[in-house]
Amino acid sequence: MDIRKVSEYFSVSGQLSVDDLQALKDSGIRTLICNRPDGEAAGQLAHADIEKPARELGFVVHYLPVVNDTINANDVHAFARMLDESPAPVHAWCRSGQRATTLWCLMQIGKGGDSAMVVNAANATGTDFSTVPVKFAGVIREITGAFAKLPLGQFCPLLIVGGGSAGISLAASLLRRDPTLRISIIEPSDTHYYQPAFTLVGGGEYELADTRRNTSALIPGGVQWIKAAVTNFLPEQAQVVLDNGTRLAYEQLVVCAGLKLNWDAVPGLRETLGKNGVTSNYVPELAPYTWQLVRNLRRGLAVFTQPPMPIKCAGAPQKAMYLSADHWLRQGLLGHVNVHFYNAGAVLFGVKDFVPALQSYVERYKAQLHMGHNLVKVDGPRRIATFAHTQADGTQQLNEVTFDLLHVCPPQCAPDFIRNSPLADRAGWVEVDPATLRHKRYPNVWGLGDVTSTPNAKTAAAVRMQVPVLAENLLAELHNLPLSAIYEGYGACPLTVERGKIVLAEFGYGGKLQPTLPIWLIDGRKATWFAWLLKKYLMPWLYWHLMLRGWEPLARPAKGDQENAG
Ligand code: FAD
Repeated sequence: MDIRKVSEYFSVSGQLSVDDLQALKDSGIRTLICNRPDGEAAGQLAHADIEKPARELGFVVHYLPVVNDTINANDVHAFARMLDESPAPVHAWCRSGQRATTLWCLMQIGKGGDSAMVVNAANATGTDFSTVPVKFAGVIREITGAFAKLPLGQFCPLLIVGGGSAGISLAASLLRRDPTLRISIIEPSDTHYYQPAFTLVGGGEYELADTRRNTSALIPGGVQWIKAAVTNFLPEQAQVVLDNGTRLAYEQLVVCAGLKLNWDAVPGLRETLGKNGVTSNYVPELAPYTWQLVRNLRRGLAVFTQPPMPIKCAGAPQKAMYLSADHWLRQGLLGHVNVHFYNAGAVLFGVKDFVPALQSYVERYKAQLHMGHNLVKVDGPRRIATFAHTQADGTQQLNEVTFDLLHVCPPQCAPDFIRNSPLADRAGWVEVDPATLRHKRYPNVWGLGDVTSTPNAKTAAAVRMQVPVLAENLLAELHNLPLSAIYEGYGACPLTVERGKIVLAEFGYGGKLQPTLPIWLIDGRKATWFAWLLKKYLMPWLYWHLMLRGWEPLARPAKGDQENAG
């Protein structure tokens, strides 16, 4: 079977056999679509013969038979619905994989995708799809027309998608600079969380209730809150489509919709979260459960996992381990409780200056490190976690580990509606210039926070430094001035290595150290009590009272020549 990846979450192949199913399952595929009509060739396996064993293996299975030359708008709509409503990754097949790829191309272009980019992605499968936009122009017109027929709600001169840390801070920052701006934020959630405190909640050092506020209380006065979710971007028409079917037009668009916690990428995980000793500080409601499990565990195996990068707060999986181990050490339980850290990556932390301090805590807690181990399956009732271990020669071996406590940091990726949009880069993130934060292909689109392609540590600390850069550059653009503010990749990760001490890792692009305070006050390469005070008491206050209100101390953007930046 020749599996060809068209996008991160969609692959195609020629005719499948029943024997291929296990390999697809092992590679993480969750949905199968058959685009080949039954009886097309002598001896061809009927769809029903493959559907049954596929369902038994847990796949979602669809049958959408098409003939290449007669693919129509209904086929494309049906295909789009299947992709939208089924768990990813999706694998589709026909005789050669060509029809499945054509449907994907038409769906992407119909949703407003740049045809050259879509065709390039399809061509990467080894067949030439360059004729698709011309050959199926009528179908594309019909599908695009379906979007164009949606009612146009209103014109929002400055539209922000996502009212999390980045969206609210930006709106406040812009208004401080120019109170006459007309700003709208599209945000579906009533509740806003201060996520950096989740680790402290999981360590019994913070109340979950204190991490929560009503969104309505945080949206700056004068900003319009559109309580909805965006489903599509039409950047060529400067419009977005909402989940209620309305289109909104804009002059400038800022996308800051965060990232997706991809629980479904690990079979068995979602079902067992919050029971059977399986927890995650990445879910607010489960952070108190982490602390409950830690307090109740008096002997056994505690397993902490870290998925492949990028994730938000790259240190959070370790923080959970250190705070838990610190508790067991103080209770005299270490040794009865054995701590294991399974990391899909090859190093303890991506910036080497901080590793010695962290390593000393790994030794203090006698934690066993397992590098190159990626969590691929969880059997909650039997308390077994399965890891794919990448060997030195690149091959993978599956290791089963029994656990008494399992703290999971989930795999993370761009949200589906971003990943499938024309704004995305090949990896699915909003493709912005790393210095100016302006979109690389659409000059009136900008990106901020976890959702962007910038190679910084995805943290609220990064957002704090990005916001003034974007605010200044966006205002410069509105006044036809050159963009001069530069984001140098600052991000910070306060690693809670024990109760009362933190290794405060602050760094920019390329791992360059970027300490905020003088080194005599805080040396980020060492565990300090002062950094703990900052994290537990000062930073939450700064977040609620300064950052979300547009005050920006110690965040003045660097200036430079944007022609040569990024
Ligand atoms: P978010 O704050 O997640 O906001 C995204 C918003 O977009 C959400 O409100 C969401 O509802 C909205 N949205 C989603 N889909 C749509 C849609 N279709 N249409 C419109 N809106 C949509 N950072 C630190 O600096 N220090 C730390 O110590 C730290 N620790 C962390 C520990 C944990 C366990 C976690 C989970 C995070 C941690 N972070 C930390 C990371 C930090 O919280 C994030 O990097 C930060 O919140 C990113 O801000 P954002 O606005 O990009 O995304």
